[in-house]
Amino acid sequence: MLNLVLFGPPGAGKGTQSQHLIEKYGLIHLSTGDLLRNEILQGTELGLEAKKLMDAGMLVPDEVVIGMISNKLDANRDAEGFIFDGFPRTVAQAEALDSLLKSKDSAITVMIALEVNDDELEHRLLLRGKGSGRPDDANPEVIRRRIKEYNDKTAPVAGFYKAQNKFTSISGIGSIHDIFDSISAVIADKA
Ligand code: AMP
Repeated sequence: MLNLVLFGPPGAGKGTQSQHLIEKYGLIHLSTGDLLRNEILQGTELGLEAKKLMDAGMLVPDEVVIGMISNKLDANRDAEGFIFDGFPRTVAQAEALDSLLKSKDSAITVMIALEVNDDELEHRLLLRGKGSGRPDDANPEVIRRRIKEYNDKTAPVAGFYKAQNKFTSISGIGSIHDIFDSISAVIADKA
């Protein structure tokens, strides 16, 4: 199995690259942000609770996203592998993912971090907010809060995978095509 964690701050290009990667490698794309937005669209209780935090640029509780990922792993037992996009976002989530995969005799193959500076992220997210309809992309204050949440709670997840010799980082600035080639080269090396 090829299990990839695509890592990086909001606006780094994880979603865009995931779309290309699922085509090339036949992986299942698991984006906790997409799963949460789907809950909101369906008006579930989980969605209503999560929306308050998401609109404020805060992370939703670990147990909520871990539960969603666990369900998706169970629902896709025959998958060739997974791309985890926007998950794990805390060390507790990374630990939970390791044990979920271990219980299925599997493991993370590699984490690939997309490096983009804060000014470029803010610029990209505001631009995306004009077309995406995502309330958390439209407000500069919420964007800064999301980047702060990333620096405080998510950045340490890199250390978790570094300790397992599974961490790689590449520049997330450049053409979509060139970044995709860099990611493919890492996969060819690690998989
Ligand atoms: P994203 O689409 O990945 O940018 O996520 C949008 C929002 O959903 C984030 O700002 C968080 O509020 C929430 N979210 C998504 N994934 C997670 C996660 N793994 N842990 C906690 N909150 C998450």
